[in-house]
Amino acid sequence: MAELSERMRALVQPHLAGIEPYDPNFTPTDINLSANENTCPLPEGVRAAVDAALAATPLNRYPDPLSNDLRDELAAWHGVPRETICVGNGGDELLYNFLLAFGGPGRTLLTCPPDFSEYAFFASLAQTEVERVWRDERTYGLKRDELVAAAAHADLVILTSPNNPTGDVVPLDLAREVCAACPGLVVIDEAYGEFADEGTSAAVLLEECDNLIVLHTLSKAFGAAGIRCGYVMAAPDVIDVFAAIRQIYSVNVLTQSAALAAVRARDAFAPVIAQIRSERERLFAALSQLVQATAPEGAVWESQGNFLLVRVPHASEVRQRLRDDFSILVRDFSYAPGLADCLRITVGTPEENDRLLEAFQALLNKTLSA
Ligand code: PMP
Repeated sequence: MAELSERMRALVQPHLAGIEPYDPNFTPTDINLSANENTCPLPEGVRAAVDAALAATPLNRYPDPLSNDLRDELAAWHGVPRETICVGNGGDELLYNFLLAFGGPGRTLLTCPPDFSEYAFFASLAQTEVERVWRDERTYGLKRDELVAAAAHADLVILTSPNNPTGDVVPLDLAREVCAACPGLVVIDEAYGEFADEGTSAAVLLEECDNLIVLHTLSKAFGAAGIRCGYVMAAPDVIDVFAAIRQIYSVNVLTQSAALAAVRARDAFAPVIAQIRSERERLFAALSQLVQATAPEGAVWESQGNFLLVRVPHASEVRQRLRDDFSILVRDFSYAPGLADCLRITVGTPEENDRLLEAFQALLNKTLSA
């Protein structure tokens, strides 16, 4: 990754001197299972509805700053008032704005890594100190007691459910305990929530816990990562802050129109989500068997998201061979703290998953016999 030039290091704000331009390490391949997108095309009819909505959207006017039509549709879906929802330019913008509004010098954000690396990055931009309660080294389960104790003196907490990249959900009783313990605000990031078992969403706690914020995105289950649209649900006074701090036009007219059409057609996504969930179980079983048979030190973790975390010997090499010999891209996490020899594989279409399994089998046999 490129570092800032010496000249820029001297010119940027001192706390930004260490930043590096984001490099997703993307290489064009036939099959991209590296970014946890939904690799299925939009369901029949939904794409046409989106296209019609886009064609009917005037481009000469500024967007509605608060995306109120979309807010109303989301509110109707979740059975909550409009005032409890704020829409953003992807979940990322909302996470950044969360740190910008509620973090800052002297404040601490509590996270439970390995988790989504952007939390710590946004915290650093907002000069917010990060306190970490690391997950169990072997199971990646949350350390409940440590987490609740740390939450009692944290200003902010972010938990991820299902967690990227480990795939586990935050039990609701733990979410409730953390909200009760934390004097500040608690985000439960449910970017992958639609892929998890029913009854796991922390949204049911919103009425009881007025310091809870639940984050969602259309980038995953809705297969719309390209349009950049996410939303948070929280108490109205929390939403007022999100609404006040945002760049007023960050959610453009095309995004609002496409998102509204997609959310209106939400029932059409149920079969896609069901397929991804069943493919996830098929991949989990097949990869577990493969890893067990070839590498006793390897592992595959159960996941409630649209991805699986897999530990294999020589993970970086396996990732490179998948890319160069089989044109399949997966994410290498082996450099990341706590994730030695781990790859994260997005669950693709049945055909993509078949090709992944074939390639994986060939590679594991080869690295083993090498
Ligand atoms: N939270 C988690 C846990 C994620 O993995 C991602 C995307 N990788 C996001 C939030 C943000 O997604 P987006 O900005 O596309 O809405």
